[in-house]
Amino acid sequence: MTSIYSAGWVLPIIAPAIEDGAVAINGSKIVATGSRVEVVSRFPAARISDFGQAAILPGLVNAHSHLELTVMRGFLESVEPDFAAWLRKLTTARMAMTTEDLLVSATCGAIEAARAGVTCFGDSCSAATHAIKALQQVGMRGIVYHESFGPDPNLAEENVAKLREQIAEIRGHESDLVHPGISPHAPYTVSAPQLELISRLSIDEKLPLMMHAAESQAEKSFMLDGLGHFAEGLKARGIEWQAP
Ligand SMILES: [Zn+2]
Repeated sequence: MTSIYSAGWVLPIIAPAIEDGAVAINGSKIVATGSRVEVVSRFPAARISDFGQAAILPGLVNAHSHLELTVMRGFLESVEPDFAAWLRKLTTARMAMTTEDLLVSATCGAIEAARAGVTCFGDSCSAATHAIKALQQVGMRGIVYHESFGPDPNLAEENVAKLREQIAEIRGHESDLVHPGISPHAPYTVSAPQLELISRLSIDEKLPLMMHAAESQAEKSFMLDGLGHFAEGLKARGIEWQAP
């Protein structure tokens, strides 16, 4: 059964805007876009829903979200000017969240995004199964990047062995619309050997990869000169690190 959705404007994005346009849909597939007159004449038996003075366009893509942290809105703003303090406050609070909290938080984020017109995510999270479930419950499409941490090069093998097991479990929740990926979190939280092992895992398992990079002045000092907050933090933990 074909359905037609029409509005004052249809924005195909890959083609110019269509005034008084329509989109015909069969099942989950778009079968035609064009002027309302054209589309209706091609599918005269179709059911028509008209949205009046509105625009119909493809869903928006949020290429970098942290849905599990939705509940932290308003909680971190006071420390925002200090990246290290911001990260510390966020990490401490996230560690206090239960798996149920993470799922509820991610689901709230996905619902809010759907209301704003987002239909596709690149989501980064510490608990991929929850973000995958949240996207599936709301009917979204996306890649959920499971984060890996580990600045100590001596623990790289062990950390990636754990990551392999987690990925195998996460794969069990994959669906047509939602797929897992992996994220070596950032240059200051993942050692060079761990990064290499994760790259290998990404190739072996055909998993897309995402990493936070170039986020702050502190990270720049750390990467270029081996100095600053992140270098001091690793030194205090007895972790050897040299700027590349
Ligand atoms: Zn991020």
